Amino acid sequence: MNAVLIAPHKYVQGSDVLAEAGSLIAAIGKKPLVLWDKKVKAIVGKTLLASLAAAKLKVTDVAFKGDSTHAEADRVAGLAAKAKADVIIGVGGGKALDTAKAAAAATKARVVTIPTIASNDSPTSSYTVWYDEKGNCMGFESWGVNPDLVLVDTRVIANGPVQAFVAGMGDALATWIEARVCLQTRSPNLAGGVSTQAAMALAQLACDILLEYGLEAKRAVEKKVVTPAVEKVVEANVLLSGVGFESGGVATAHMIANCLPSLPECHKLMHGQEVGFGIISQLCLEEDVEVEEIYEIVDFEIAVGLPVTFADLGLAGVKRSRLEPIGKICAGEGSLCQAHPFKVTPESVVDAMIAADALGTARKRLTTEPQRR
Ligand SMILES: [Zn+2]
Repeated sequence: MNAVLIAPHKYVQGSDVLAEAGSLIAAIGKKPLVLWDKKVKAIVGKTLLASLAAAKLKVTDVAFKGDSTHAEADRVAGLAAKAKADVIIGVGGGKALDTAKAAAAATKARVVTIPTIASNDSPTSSYTVWYDEKGNCMGFESWGVNPDLVLVDTRVIANGPVQAFVAGMGDALATWIEARVCLQTRSPNLAGGVSTQAAMALAQLACDILLEYGLEAKRAVEKKVVTPAVEKVVEANVLLSGVGFESGGVATAHMIANCLPSLPECHKLMHGQEVGFGIISQLCLEEDVEVEEIYEIVDFEIAVGLPVTFADLGLAGVKRSRLEPIGKICAGEGSLCQAHPFKVTPESVVDAMIAADALGTARKRLTTEPQRR
């Protein structure tokens, strides 16, 4: 299999960089369609529209209905065709960005993503995650191309919800832990090949940055300020994690995360929070991980507030029988868990989740109880 890396054409990140959107987007298209919901427009609308107007771009303004469904993507594509839009700008969270990508693919327009939270890997990727009208995940689809421009205003991110920022750290932390599994077994990445050394370096860098600066960045975002730590962690959450997962590959951490929403108690969790627990479960499943490394990862997750126990997921006291369907899916045909160099069974997955909960509970007790002098 060939080594393949895919990435956005251009990535621009900085505090108040949104004011430069017009000149950056004018180089890509002349008739932009902007897709955003009311809440996002209230936050960034004035700055973005002023910048597009200053660049003499005629904007079609479309209100996003909130879910990346086929119907919503068709509606936006219809409006884009009618307006002859040559670039679709998705602004907001992953669902708005994913819908913009789908509508752009349908109308052969170019794509700009402007994430207002750094919680997931949508901004840089070639994928749309599809949902149905009830909010259930229906799988994902690649468009074969990555966004033409990813524009990340760190001032906007720092003023966003802390929980989303932390969830993004969960998704980014998994990148290295999963990519190294895929490299070991030469499992395919999501770019249609095996990992390049470049993708591996980006994935590892994301992990290093988080362990060093993650907690500092979280403290800054709690105060809604932009610091060098915030800049570093935003880059890890958005660029390094985004390119790293797509060109590095995913494994059990994401497989468990994708299964957790089948339990109603987990419905309110963000993707990156589910991945956070998936990471600990994967580390408990793996055969060759050093205990010291597991403790470092668990303690980091506890420090920033990612879920490491069943109670954190809303599943306190969950019975083994309720986890067994997840074990079956993880051990089944086409599962991401097949990336590992050993056989994953339904029992081993459930055992790993229970071990993760026990580990998380024990480390929490250690880190929260006052230490004796
Ligand atoms: Zn993810």
